[in-house]
Amino acid sequence: MRIVLFGPPGVGKGTQAELLANHFHLVKFSMGDLLRQEVAVSSSIGRRVESYLKQGNLVPDDIIVELVYNFLLENRERDILFDGFPRNLNQAHSLEQNLAQLGQKIDFALELYIADEEIIKRLQNRLYCSSCGRIYNCLTDPPKKKGICDVCGQELIKRDDDEEPVIRRRLDVYNSQTRLLTEYYKELNVYKRIDASGSKEQIFKRICEILDGYIDKE
Ligand code: ADP
Ligand code: ZN
Repeated sequence: MRIVLFGPPGVGKGTQAELLANHFHLVKFSMGDLLRQEVAVSSSIGRRVESYLKQGNLVPDDIIVELVYNFLLENRERDILFDGFPRNLNQAHSLEQNLAQLGQKIDFALELYIADEEIIKRLQNRLYCSSCGRIYNCLTDPPKKKGICDVCGQELIKRDDDEEPVIRRRLDVYNSQTRLLTEYYKELNVYKRIDASGSKEQIFKRICEILDGYIDKE
């Protein structure tokens, strides 16, 4: 089983990816987390991608495609959830080709959607744990202790790219490039659209209604 999860920044992809991976025992591949880790340890990839992340632009496809290829080889026996990849048509084609080489394909492409105003509100209030990746919202889903991760006790931080001008840039990139995936996956007959308004539990339930019956929980 291979699932692609996409949607505009702030729609709750990361949160849902975490819930889904645990519930259905999928290996989660989160491109944004992976890139931020490279930046944090200042690896050679990290140094090459840092400015793109800061400005809200897509990292060049050659870097992205290489990271994914290595992951696919290492996890060829596993069920995979792709979060934040692909993000444009070129990446989608390359994923399809790489999977085909392994005799695999995408089973579902799930798009989460909400209104732009809601996105900006969510992102400006977002905090995250750089250690375990858990995402919080100061207004709707705060940690038990202010500024501290419930799961691992680490200090929570705000992402560099969660400031309004960069949020707007990320939305533009989404609307001009990533949204094209909708038509692409519709043609492959794997596309499903999910309303991402409401609580994370409500959204999760909507996704499970689609996947239940297709995925074994064991
Ligand atoms: P969000 O969806 O909230 O913008 P992500 O963590 O998925 O957050 O991505 C953060 C940033 O990482 C993007 O703005 C972009 O710079 C980079 N990035 C993530 N995935 C990709 C990708 N598939 N291709 C190119 N750049 C990417
Ligand atoms: Zn944590």
